[in-house]
Amino acid sequence: MKRKVNLSEITTKEPMKIDTEIQSSIVELPPEEVSKASPFKLHVEITKKPIGYQVKGRVEGEVELTCSRCLKKFTHKIDKEFDYKLMPTSQIGGGQIKSGELDIKFSDENVLDLAEVVQEQVVLELPVKPLCSEECSEVSYTEGEFEEEERKGKEKEIDKRWEKLKELQNKLKGKEK
Ligand SMILES: [Zn+2]
Repeated sequence: MKRKVNLSEITTKEPMKIDTEIQSSIVELPPEEVSKASPFKLHVEITKKPIGYQVKGRVEGEVELTCSRCLKKFTHKIDKEFDYKLMPTSQIGGGQIKSGELDIKFSDENVLDLAEVVQEQVVLELPVKPLCSEECSEVSYTEGEFEEEERKGKEKEIDKRWEKLKELQNKLKGKEK
């Protein structure tokens, strides 16, 4: 279980590839959102660039969240790919950053903490409004109600049309007599 990477060990030729497992106990996740977490599988490839490093990989695991609607606890799968640049802060304002390169992180440390990498990616994957299932979604519930109202409204309209037709029929019958 590798946790920290010494970036100065990475040469320009070969990217450093790491496959490891990070225990959830060393990953700082918001306790009010995440009640439990599995160990996280991490695959990461770090490539040395003329300036800084390219960090890409994938985090997989499971977290236990609380449904925002029924308050039931449920398991949420994490499977997140990432790809960003790690740049020394000394490069800020150096005109080296092209606009559009939004996935940049700044760090002057020579050590990359893999537990921090996992933490950042998992936090990004946490839903704003956790729901235990699609059926538990408030949105589909109100939509269903709306459809019901709409259907009733249409039925009423159809009834009105029938009434007018009956009136017309009665009138015609009257003429016949
Ligand atoms: Zn729920």
